[in-house]
Amino acid sequence: MKVAVVGAGAMGSLFGAMLAEAGNEVWLYDVWLDHVQTINQTGLRIEREGNTRTIKVMATADPQQIGRAELVIIFVKASRTNSAAETAQVIAGSDGSVMTLQNGMGNADIIAEFIDPEQILAGTTSHGATLLGPGSIRHAGCGPTTIGAWSQTEAGRQRAGQLAEFFSRAGIETESVADVRSVVWNKLLINIGINAITALTNIKNGQILDLEITRELSRTAVKEAINVAQAANIEALDDAIDRVFKVAKATAVNRSSMGQDVDNRRPTEIAAINGFIVREAKRLGLEAPVNFALTALVQTLEYHYK
Ligand code: NAD
Repeated sequence: MKVAVVGAGAMGSLFGAMLAEAGNEVWLYDVWLDHVQTINQTGLRIEREGNTRTIKVMATADPQQIGRAELVIIFVKASRTNSAAETAQVIAGSDGSVMTLQNGMGNADIIAEFIDPEQILAGTTSHGATLLGPGSIRHAGCGPTTIGAWSQTEAGRQRAGQLAEFFSRAGIETESVADVRSVVWNKLLINIGINAITALTNIKNGQILDLEITRELSRTAVKEAINVAQAANIEALDDAIDRVFKVAKATAVNRSSMGQDVDNRRPTEIAAINGFIVREAKRLGLEAPVNFALTALVQTLEYHYK
């Protein structure tokens, strides 16, 4: 299959590399020239548990060079989804599949402004990756990937099923589900309970559990989000607070992705996480004051980065 990755940072490079290793024609598209040049000159280096392998994969900063691809995977940060979707539209044409496994909520709806929803697949992945420098990433963790058709039509479901098999054959263990919205929501709830709090307070994920007042803050942010989800008819969210605390414990020594963004003075994905809850609450006539405060504080912090 011909595959293009739009946004070939940590995760885009990882997925692109695994699909290339399985024998597919893969193009990595990124706006970061140093990264693109390094990959073309010396290959993509992937560090995994102390071992490093180098993969030959094509990279470009010019989407025209790619032509049409049967699958486009969008892996930019949420704040760049708009421009990535514009590029994906050209590469996917009127029948290529466009997939987002980005964190946060709203990415698939932004993509749907450019691409027929029938072509769109969304989902989540438990793989983890970190950018080490141009042409170099660390594969930090493995885990299942779940995808589904954003359109929830029969044709979309078939597409999702075929792509799940395609990914699994390439060693990316993937399941396709009928109701992908609740899967994306469930991951969103975890990010709501952990990301902004750790980013603002400079703590590691596990430290959310140390004080009752921090746990209460996390719990309240997640409860507000569950109210919004229920008002939007999203199902299967009942044990969300327990899951947030379990993830915080299991990833106790990690800094959340938003924490790392703040540490490195990079734009965060707050607008697609807590900010999404604030916008949805407003639309549905609900209150989300804790998510509002977390969003306002992270945006203020970002605005005053030195
Ligand atoms: P990243 O910052 O490493 O990579 C994003 C890449 O997009 C960068 O290389 C950047 O140059 C590129 N880019 C920016 N604007 C672009 C544009 N308009 N067109 C093409 N490329 C563009 O980010 P990441 O860690 O790979 O995360 C990507 C997404 O995956 C995020 O939504 C993140 O939350 C999600 N995610 C990350 C992980 C992880 O472990 N890193 C795990 C699961 C999900």
